[in-house]
Amino acid sequence: KKRFTRTAIACALMALAGAAQADVSQRVEALLRQMTLDEKVGQLNQLSGKDFSTGPGSGKVRDIERDIRDGRIGSMLNIRGAAETRRVQALALQSRLHIPLLFGLDVIHGYRTVFPVPLGEAASWDLDAIEESARIAAREASAAGVHWTFAPMVDIGRDPRWGRVMEGAGEDTYLGSRIAAARVRGFQGTKLGGLESVMATAKHFAGYGAALAGRDYNAVDMSEHQLYETYLPPFKAAADAGVATFMNSFNTLNGIPATGNAMLQRDILKGRWGFKGFVVSDWGSVREMVVHGYANDLPDAAAKAITAGSDMDMESSAYASSLANLVRSGRVDVKFVDDAVRRVLTKKFELGLFDDPYRFSDPAREKAALADPRHRAAARRIAAESMVLLKNDGGALPLRKDARSIAVIGPLADARRDLEGGWIVDSNAATMASLVDAVRTHAGPGTRVAYAAGCDVACRGTDGFAAALDLARAADVVVLAVGESWDMSGEAKSRADIGLPGRQAELFDALKAIGKTPVVVIMAGRPLIFENVAQGANAILYAWHPGSEGGNAIADVLFGDVNPSAKLPMTFPRNMGQIPIGYQQYQTGRPVLDNGNSVYRSAYIDSPNTPRYAFGHGLSYTTFAYGDLRLSSTRMTPDGKITLQFTLTNSGRVAGAEVVQFYLRDPVASVVRPVKELKGFQRIALKPGEHRTVSFTVDRDTLSFFDRKLAWGAEPGTFELMVGSASDDIRLRQTIELTGP
Ligand code: BGC
Repeated sequence: KKRFTRTAIACALMALAGAAQADVSQRVEALLRQMTLDEKVGQLNQLSGKDFSTGPGSGKVRDIERDIRDGRIGSMLNIRGAAETRRVQALALQSRLHIPLLFGLDVIHGYRTVFPVPLGEAASWDLDAIEESARIAAREASAAGVHWTFAPMVDIGRDPRWGRVMEGAGEDTYLGSRIAAARVRGFQGTKLGGLESVMATAKHFAGYGAALAGRDYNAVDMSEHQLYETYLPPFKAAADAGVATFMNSFNTLNGIPATGNAMLQRDILKGRWGFKGFVVSDWGSVREMVVHGYANDLPDAAAKAITAGSDMDMESSAYASSLANLVRSGRVDVKFVDDAVRRVLTKKFELGLFDDPYRFSDPAREKAALADPRHRAAARRIAAESMVLLKNDGGALPLRKDARSIAVIGPLADARRDLEGGWIVDSNAATMASLVDAVRTHAGPGTRVAYAAGCDVACRGTDGFAAALDLARAADVVVLAVGESWDMSGEAKSRADIGLPGRQAELFDALKAIGKTPVVVIMAGRPLIFENVAQGANAILYAWHPGSEGGNAIADVLFGDVNPSAKLPMTFPRNMGQIPIGYQQYQTGRPVLDNGNSVYRSAYIDSPNTPRYAFGHGLSYTTFAYGDLRLSSTRMTPDGKITLQFTLTNSGRVAGAEVVQFYLRDPVASVVRPVKELKGFQRIALKPGEHRTVSFTVDRDTLSFFDRKLAWGAEPGTFELMVGSASDDIRLRQTIELTGP
């Protein structure tokens, strides 16, 4: 009876949703019929309101405001705040058809409350926490009138020179896909139109993370197989999670700019994947097709972009200036324009903007949401969960709270803005605790805490070394905080050398030279190379840019109030020459032998192949034992399933969480498979001595890959299943067989 009722309710809800959808499409069609060609083009035109805050009376602002009133602009980015969005929305409602504007903004890792940079947050491997931070960002942003965030970035990043690895989830397709879906759920909630949610954007479609040589905006050239296998799945996962929009990208992909790429946008995204939302171009990327040498002029670029499936033009004004003429002259079929407008209007209806254009711009809700203390508490918890304990020899960490004196040294020791990282909306620096502040509040009353910068992040001077060394000499414990400043990663922040900038590596050596081995905290937006520190330090905590509560969160981990549990979402190389490096390599015919013999092997004569720290690596203050692997069967039919189980035990003395990782290898296939591929993970918290049975399910999908015709499927044969604590720390293995059909 109960089940019947549930089914009945579910059916009723589905019917309602179906009816609502039908209602939306009727309203869209009715509106479309009333629109002139110019009004349609207006809906596809997006401009930035950056100048609105700086020069309210300027000519450019006046022109934009006039165009909004005339229905020539469908969306604005970079306008925010309940009051300001209300003011600008009111202009749009003066247009002939009163079509409301969409307000978009880059809410990348928080709106008011800043969470760790996305790459850092990915290191938590905690999908609930990742969803929660997006949820909080949406709650704050939506109350400030923002309808739409240009996040998540789901580009796979395997080259740490590329500054935008900071904005993604790292190198792995499986982890990246799971995180993409979690972020979409967090931003959008269960259904578009919820008051505390914003539309999300899967960006940058596609291939942008594979810029040659890690140089931002550079060309991308890759096999279709690599595109399907590695770069597209996180986008597919976002689409399956219901992401409202996609953003295309600046790069060419095998010679065709993504913005003019019909194979990507029409065939794959809107065709095969059935995506119903709309695609926004990247900033000026329609215009850039002229610079690429793919279009003769702006009208040509507009024609190529709209036919290829770019629905909304961000900042090029290419559509606004030429699309109507292109249709009138017969160069562009109006069906492309209609399709794009339909997609944009559908989202405006789904958000409820036609029913109440001001519903998201609520000054009272804005005030309450931005001051909600729970948001900062979540930021602190998630930041602590994101920090990776790379090394901890001889129990250097956690620090004792009763040390007599602690010297906190380094250019990032008293930083606030650098804790936040790039791509933030508002800086909280004025209300933030630096690491020094947090060490003071964490240490016992009898502990003296002293601070010296020693040097700057990037400058060449070493004048500050002497004072820092004096403090270190007098201290029982030395904590050294080094890394990148907030503006060294992100867009257009490629680095040709990803060592510790400036003289920071030398500051570490100088401390060692006086007999002090500091505990090292590294903040950065990407994997860095720091060989002297990796070899000479006893303890290294990789804190990324941890956000508004970063100082407190680092101290929580250093003093053991939080046991670190994060794992690297990207491989850390030993040297520049190893880049690109990742765990999921394809087997060569000349692998390095177990005995280390590397003559005529696929190896370097001057460097090991192994990374400094592998994908999935991360230590804890406790230890975990893996044992008792059992499989429900070692033979699987194509429609069958195998359950893999093992026992995880907290074999140490403190409570902690382990991210257990499940990898697969298909040793022989019609297309050579990677030596290891992540296929599952779970985050398990255990008290000391406690154990738990962990299960993973293997089905045909787990064993499938894209074959040479790009068809998804599994081939009969043996497969190796591996479970472990990192990609280079496999604890249990077992072989299974997939039988033929
Ligand atoms: C970036 C996008 C961003 C857009 C809008 C572009 O330069 O590539 O990621 O969303 O600007 O700010």
